[in-house]
Amino acid sequence: MDTKNRIEELVKRLNEYAKAYYVDSNPLVSDMEYDRLFDELKKAEEEHPEYILPESPTQRVGSDLTNDFPEFRHTIPVLSLDKAYSRDEVISYMMKTINRQQSTLSFVSEEKIDGISMVLYYEKGVLVRGVTRGNGEVGNDVTPNIRTISSVPLRLSEEIDIAVRGEVYLSKATFEKVNNELDDDKKAANARNLAAGTVRRQKSSEAAMVPLDIFCYEGFWPDGDSSPRSHLEILSYLKKLGFRTNDHIAVFSESREKSERMLSDAGLAGLAYSFSDMQDYIDYKTEERSSLKYEIDGLVFKVNEIAQREKLGYTEHHPRWAIAYKFESPQAVSRLLGVTVQVGRTGRITPVAELEPVALGGSTIRRATLHNQEYIDSLELAIGDTVSIVKRGDVIPQVEDVIEKNEEGNTVYKIDMHCPCCGSHLEREGAHLFCRNPLCPEQVIGTLSFFSSRTQMDIESLGPKTIRVFYEAGLLKKIEDIYTAPYETLIGQKGIGEKTVKAIRDGVEESRKQPFKVVLSSLGIPELGKKSAELLVAAGFNSFDKLKSAREEDLVKVDGIGSVMASLIVESFRDERLLETIEKLKEAGIHASSDEDEKSEEHDQIFKDTVWCVTGSFEHFNPRSKAMEEVEKRGGKTVSSVSSRTTHLLAGKGGGSKRAEAERLGVRIVSEEEFISMLGNGEEKKDGDHIQLELF
Ligand code: NAD
Repeated sequence: MDTKNRIEELVKRLNEYAKAYYVDSNPLVSDMEYDRLFDELKKAEEEHPEYILPESPTQRVGSDLTNDFPEFRHTIPVLSLDKAYSRDEVISYMMKTINRQQSTLSFVSEEKIDGISMVLYYEKGVLVRGVTRGNGEVGNDVTPNIRTISSVPLRLSEEIDIAVRGEVYLSKATFEKVNNELDDDKKAANARNLAAGTVRRQKSSEAAMVPLDIFCYEGFWPDGDSSPRSHLEILSYLKKLGFRTNDHIAVFSESREKSERMLSDAGLAGLAYSFSDMQDYIDYKTEERSSLKYEIDGLVFKVNEIAQREKLGYTEHHPRWAIAYKFESPQAVSRLLGVTVQVGRTGRITPVAELEPVALGGSTIRRATLHNQEYIDSLELAIGDTVSIVKRGDVIPQVEDVIEKNEEGNTVYKIDMHCPCCGSHLEREGAHLFCRNPLCPEQVIGTLSFFSSRTQMDIESLGPKTIRVFYEAGLLKKIEDIYTAPYETLIGQKGIGEKTVKAIRDGVEESRKQPFKVVLSSLGIPELGKKSAELLVAAGFNSFDKLKSAREEDLVKVDGIGSVMASLIVESFRDERLLETIEKLKEAGIHASSDEDEKSEEHDQIFKDTVWCVTGSFEHFNPRSKAMEEVEKRGGKTVSSVSSRTTHLLAGKGGGSKRAEAERLGVRIVSEEEFISMLGNGEEKKDGDHIQLELF
């Protein structure tokens, strides 16, 4: 392919990838692959500037603009960052910049938070607008959603006009918690995608349910004597105004002593380095990365002196006074041996690559996702091809690209249009194929496995493998069979022992205690996951009977329930099979309304009007979200970071920065022991004698 065609192809591919990444929050390739193609394009354009296309991603900032929100023209430059991939590139950038300016410069390094770029505009110290980066000139105004972020100050400590840049993100723990509660087809690949989706929710009440956070890292003051002269002063001033800044910074100058002095003059904590320490610093941060509470994808190095920044200026794409060092993502090379087609519980078909085993990021990879036929077509992937594999979001392995075509002459792999399990003709919906046969064995096994899974009804010992055995023996065919199946008949066969059956029976018994909202979200009703179940129950649709008679127009009035979801719920509650399952489950004694939950799980609202944050690790609450559940059961609110609105900080072992913030704000700090005693007292008030807490 000649250079002109290659440039055109790269621009087309990169723009498609960028849309999927920024607008749909659903990346098609890893960042590493995107960056590799971006660099190839940059090089080709440097050699042949006559072929540069106006829509080339090198000529503008990757755009996350959508039509769903009003647009706002930025009053400050909102650009991307230039990238470096090695210590040498960072050092060479620093030295080039120093030589160009003919001046001694210092640099501040910050963590490159993997979130969503946001600009906060304040007038007279009051938040007036939260705007996405957009295309760098115009962004989407998402103010109502930004107001739900507790670490975004609504009013500053000074009545000034200021624009502040920051990164909105989700901590790793919050991501795990929130994502776990989502239906499989709604799960996000990583925290960044979930944060991006949340910022673009149409209803701010829905955005409020995902506790986003923000780190602010840049401020734009109106010109004046009080505007900061260095980046360190910017950070220190932002802190003073009430913004949340990241304390994990480092300063680089000619000597450590000088860097130390600079930090102490600015009143900031941070690491002090000389330029020659760069490798140590990068090694340290690369290692520290996995233990951080949030995702970072690199480090940003910024010229500290503002006057010099102004002289350096900007390209169309990035400021010349900063560079981002990007961490490497693990990548491996393997061969495609075959493709297996999986059927999910919703009938969705997913092609999976069967690979020659290869080591990648600490594990051996044999299989990797291929998403759908469109993805296979875009790679022109055929069996026998040599492929590169990456861990997307550093977790899910994915086939990334074809490195070498097979020699056998195999052509692009096509998914058979019949369900590999039941043979039904597949239907296309969007990019995916679906098997629409509700009795398709894989879908039934998937539905039963979902119902009994740990995050749903939590029936111990009844996992997908065991369910398959009982399904194949004809004993489990519908959800309701779980409560009536004669499990004992299989004892001694297919690995089923007495102990297993006893554990299943106990698990089934225990599951009868699950609250109504969990039962409701376990039935596999399309779109009705845990969050929606909670919303419905809170809005009064708190029994199967009420949901059966609910009309679409009533359901859409519930905050967080859109018209698509409302119509699917109404449709589902007219389905005879679901109604029969519900009747049978009622007979089996599961909770069919939330009134029944309350009978078995009534708690005094001892934490009403309190706002709790948690830090550190605990002996009795593991994961610590369990402690927060106890707070919520008793009427308290929970937040992910300490602010002036927080009333209590539950502090376990460790947990430095939140504790320090709580001390600074005078928030009451509660130890684990004290907390347990508070819970105990609440229970005692009700029953007169101490009840064993259900947590342990
Ligand atoms: P970027 O995200 O790599 O870097 C710029 C952004 O970093 C800034 O806009 C800012 O939001 C953020 N940032 C985080 N912490 C910061 C800090 N402390 N100081 C300053 N900025 C900070 O650049 P980009 O233009 O948004 O996106 C390009 C990158 O996005 C690519 O390198 C690629 O990795 C990824 N991308 C991936 C795909 C894909 O399909 N996987 C598609 C498009 C882009």
